[in-house]
Amino acid sequence: MIIFVCFAFIFCAISCWPVVEDINDNEIETEVGMTRFGKNIFRLPDEESGRNVASWNENSKVNPEELGNYFEGDIRMHERTGKNGLKDETYRWSNGVIPYEISGHFSSSSLDVIKRAMGVYHKYTCIRFVPRTSSHKDYVSITSGNTGCWSSVGRITGRQEVNLQSPACTTKLGTVLHELMHVAGFYHEQNRPERDDYVTVNFHNIKPGHDANFIKADKDKTISYGVPYDYRSVMHYSDHAFSRNGQPTIVPKQPEAAKKMGQREGFSRGDILKLNAMYNCPDSLPEFTTVSSGNGSGGHNGGQDILSALFSLFEE
Ligand SMILES: [Zn+2]
Repeated sequence: MIIFVCFAFIFCAISCWPVVEDINDNEIETEVGMTRFGKNIFRLPDEESGRNVASWNENSKVNPEELGNYFEGDIRMHERTGKNGLKDETYRWSNGVIPYEISGHFSSSSLDVIKRAMGVYHKYTCIRFVPRTSSHKDYVSITSGNTGCWSSVGRITGRQEVNLQSPACTTKLGTVLHELMHVAGFYHEQNRPERDDYVTVNFHNIKPGHDANFIKADKDKTISYGVPYDYRSVMHYSDHAFSRNGQPTIVPKQPEAAKKMGQREGFSRGDILKLNAMYNCPDSLPEFTTVSSGNGSGGHNGGQDILSALFSLFEE
């Protein structure tokens, strides 16, 4: 049944959504202006963020990537890029190949989560993480500094870091998927231009100085690849993100969506569709009909198999 539902989703995505056919003419999901975001936009890695993330545990109401002092919590911008986003295709990874090295110090279980996250990309998208060689001038270095979970967005050129403070940032598969989706070129789901139709942002509950994390993207400069607003996206904040008082900062207008927001168990269907659209993956992707147990290793994430987790997300 699940397989059928997933197949139906894909069939509809390919054949029913008129916007999808325009993906070659459109660009990034959420390009945003740069002037409204204050000093955090070019913030250097800082230990205060690391201390916040170190205090995170699986019972926290937020995700560790929502605890940083960086732009929108976990995005490190580079002045060189000037404009945020991938409107210019040079910010994408050529042919979807993302060379990487692991330069941080990770436990075997943390490494397992990182590798499993890459495996999910390989299974459901045409993006390929490949070990960096000397011929790769542009690459991702995965670090483990005590500065939180953070990444740049898209290909910056040269060496760019993704920091995964362990264990917080490597506890849930979805946190690694999230940071790597920034690497691929995506921003946060809840800042889509039309988000006010789907959620209410309670600005009175947001910590002072963090309002800018909720600024919507520019409607005229953004594209969603035809994927509707996605509460279940691995790029969506949790409902208590940046709360100053323990009260929700994001309230869904569809009450049943409350449990979806902020999930970090796996990709949503929309995440996969957008990744494949951005990188012009063959129409045969994503392939939802082949259910596999992956490598079956437990590691973190409660030992839940990643593909079981993924498919569970498709069930309404
Ligand atoms: Zn993020």
